[in-house]
Amino acid sequence: MSRIAFTTATLPARKRIALVAHDHCKGFLLDWAKRQRERLAHHDLVATGTTGMLLREELGMPVESMISGPLGGDQQIGARIAERRVDILVFFWDPFEPQPHDPDIKALLRVAAVWNIPVACNESSADYLLSSALLEQEHECRIPDYASYLAGRSVPQSGP
Ligand code: PGA
Repeated sequence: MSRIAFTTATLPARKRIALVAHDHCKGFLLDWAKRQRERLAHHDLVATGTTGMLLREELGMPVESMISGPLGGDQQIGARIAERRVDILVFFWDPFEPQPHDPDIKALLRVAAVWNIPVACNESSADYLLSSALLEQEHECRIPDYASYLAGRSVPQSGP
């Protein structure tokens, strides 16, 4: 039984989609995004630095850029998820290469799980996400109930 209580939130019809790809996966992400350009155009896109720059060039549409992943961009995307400013994560992480920012990658995937964000890690899962009936409609999803989480915290006080 989880110690965390949950509540629901309404996701908007226009989704905030975060896109991240490791270097050897950037070509896959760009090909996928070009193929899915029409669907992506109905949503707001945000990406890590290099991924965002390449997507803007390839798609010719606005993509907000964080700083580059190894310099903290994954953490910036993770912070947006915790602030409930990202609804979907498309993260083509490289299963064949170790990354210098591995702790950030793990943290990003963890926070996406905490906030019940759909995550696609390759073209197949990204295609399934973008063809979901939920993509273009407002819908409810389960999220941690932060107010009840705070109310339930009992932290030992220091001092006499
Ligand atoms: P990049 O970052 O888009 O700046 O390359 C991606 C990553 O490695 O996390």
